[in-house]
Amino acid sequence: MEILKNYIKGRWIESKEKETIDVINPANQEVLARVPFGVKTASDIEDAVAAASEALNEWRHMPVMRRVQPLYKLKLLLEAHTEEIARLITLECGKSYAESVAEMQRGIENVETACATPTLMQSEFSENIASGIDEFMIRQPVGVSACISPFNFPGMIPFWFLPYAIACGNSFILKPSEKVPLTMMKVFELIDKLDLPKGLVNLVHGGKESVDALLDHREVRAISFVGSTSVARYIYQRGAANGKRVQAQGGAKNPVIIMPDADIEMTAKIIADSVYGCAGQRCLAASNIITVGDTKGFVKEALLEAAKNKVTGFGLDEGVEMGPLITPESKARIEQLIEKGLAEGASLLLDGRGASISGYEKGNFIKPTILENVAPDGELIKTEIFGPVMSLLTMESLDQAIEVVNGNNYGNMACLFTSSGLNARTFRNRAKAGNIGINIGVAAPMAQFPFSGWNDSFFGDLHGQGRHAIEFFTQTKVVIERWPKEWTRKF
Ligand code: NAD
Repeated sequence: MEILKNYIKGRWIESKEKETIDVINPANQEVLARVPFGVKTASDIEDAVAAASEALNEWRHMPVMRRVQPLYKLKLLLEAHTEEIARLITLECGKSYAESVAEMQRGIENVETACATPTLMQSEFSENIASGIDEFMIRQPVGVSACISPFNFPGMIPFWFLPYAIACGNSFILKPSEKVPLTMMKVFELIDKLDLPKGLVNLVHGGKESVDALLDHREVRAISFVGSTSVARYIYQRGAANGKRVQAQGGAKNPVIIMPDADIEMTAKIIADSVYGCAGQRCLAASNIITVGDTKGFVKEALLEAAKNKVTGFGLDEGVEMGPLITPESKARIEQLIEKGLAEGASLLLDGRGASISGYEKGNFIKPTILENVAPDGELIKTEIFGPVMSLLTMESLDQAIEVVNGNNYGNMACLFTSSGLNARTFRNRAKAGNIGINIGVAAPMAQFPFSGWNDSFFGDLHGQGRHAIEFFTQTKVVIERWPKEWTRKF
């Protein structure tokens, strides 16, 4: 069985850590590879930081127009290898092949957006800000940057950061999720073809030990994290205490309100896609579905119809729309949450537990599940489920529904389905979430916009993607200059 190597200083090298854990196909428990995992991965980080610091000297002085040239090549390479990468995503992460292809498309769009860095990095100049004095701002790279990524989008999330970081003149270290390291192994084979300075972009495997080594290393100046809220909070606190800039995107619990004036058929389809896409393992998966007034009567049947027709199975099989959960532990946790919801008074409209998929009996499958009459302050409404479970609850008015939305500790996404502009305007103004959808089920910002989580869904101030990424990966320097006119000009 292959033991995965690190990519440091432009070479594939064995980890100093000999302990490994298995990388597993969640549809059938097949072991795909082994990944280094243990204390000595911290020493691999030392090597990667040394390589990244050295590469920085040359790279940061290169004109930005030249720094983005490898990104054009990377886009073409990623496009040419999308099918191969998407198959790997499905194998190790479980989502359907179509979802894996779509994920890669979103990643590539970030590479394209980062190609605009020569313009996005431009800054401000004020002539004659005081008599005979000019003032301007320069954006300079921050230095060695690191990204720690989660399991659920192994092909896309590193691209929320990597292309912007290097285009801005930084070097980069990626620590992918130990559950899904194969996708980035393939991507780094492509990165290896880019003729970047050795050590500019590095990949190191591991878990907490490698992350802590990044958080504590003096020369790492910026940390980008995406994962669960408890780890995001920890990363933010430890990184900030060590004087680094940190952007830490956390977990989510996304509410959706359906008004009586919504287009029910369209709404039900979109919401089912949002709840069950990627088996609910999406930080923008709709989870709490709040019907207003008598809407529930019409929408319930439509949601049930859309949910029960989702084809569940191994993501590389023809026609499969929904894959397994990432681990048996994750499956067990979700089943317990469903039990808790039932104990709190909810009832099952559709029960996806006990799913057995022919040929994949060992897979971590739960089929689409719907609970209704869920208690507004119950466990199901508060806790991130991260699985294919929809909780239905009813409120009397939009105001009451917004209160439920705003009562949540998370703030990644909130959506409204309506045909009223006034309802939409009220909602987008008052909902306490950073990504808002109006008649949209997955309000994922495109690459030009920041991925704007709020509250417990984000720690920091500058988010991933777009201009925020440019600001995160640069530090500003303000220059004020006096050239007195009394000084005689020589020519
Ligand atoms: P996770 O927090 O378990 O792991 C994320 C990364 O942190 C991994 O690389 C892991 O190795 C590392 N890690 C885990 N425990 C650690 C610890 N104690 N100390 C240091 N590092 C540690 O998250 P996950 O299960 O891989 O991903 C799912 C979570 O990510 C969900 O909560 C989901 O909502 C969230 N997510 C958020 C966004 C967003 O943009 N807000 C996007 C995708 C996923």
